[in-house]
Amino acid sequence: MIAANPNAIFEDLFLYDEYIEMGDIEQRYHLQPFERRKIYNDFCEIKDVSGETNRDKIKRIRGLYHNKKSKKDESWSFTDFKSFYYWYVAQYDKQKSCCEYCKTPEKNIAIITRKIKAKGFKSRGKHLEVERRDSTVGNNKYNKDNCVLCCIFCNNAKSTLFKQDEFKPIADGIGLAVRNILKIDKFSNKLDLSC
Ligand SMILES: [Zn+2]
Repeated sequence: MIAANPNAIFEDLFLYDEYIEMGDIEQRYHLQPFERRKIYNDFCEIKDVSGETNRDKIKRIRGLYHNKKSKKDESWSFTDFKSFYYWYVAQYDKQKSCCEYCKTPEKNIAIITRKIKAKGFKSRGKHLEVERRDSTVGNNKYNKDNCVLCCIFCNNAKSTLFKQDEFKPIADGIGLAVRNILKIDKFSNKLDLSC
């Protein structure tokens, strides 16, 4: 018998860190191998608003989690990958895929960074980054209350110096500069005013 939401089987299993044998999945959910293959393939290929597949998204967010965790930074407070993943996707949804600070849609940041050939923009810029509202000592935890998603330009500029409210004038300037670069007419392009 297949569960009510087959995709949930794989989303859930993908979010555990330990490797899970496909045979275990077949046994656990009473699936024939061909059923399991179809559900798995379908799940992997589902795309979100940015066009990223589930397969790539989970892999990318898992990389972010392990990258932060491996640095053994004691401000890192997400206890497991699953909680981090669910925070990330909920926050992305809440911010409507825009930078929290300058309000630029992620897809517009990606357009700009694709054009920049400089080193450092090859791996960054395509997606929003995990950033702390407050990075001052004592208040600098990476947790669901202190973290937001922001663009590479705001992340670089805000550094650990500014708190969110202190950074606002700079973020407004970055948003304006980015719109000028993209030549977006804010009165006619409703799509890009979504944030
Ligand atoms: Zn920004």
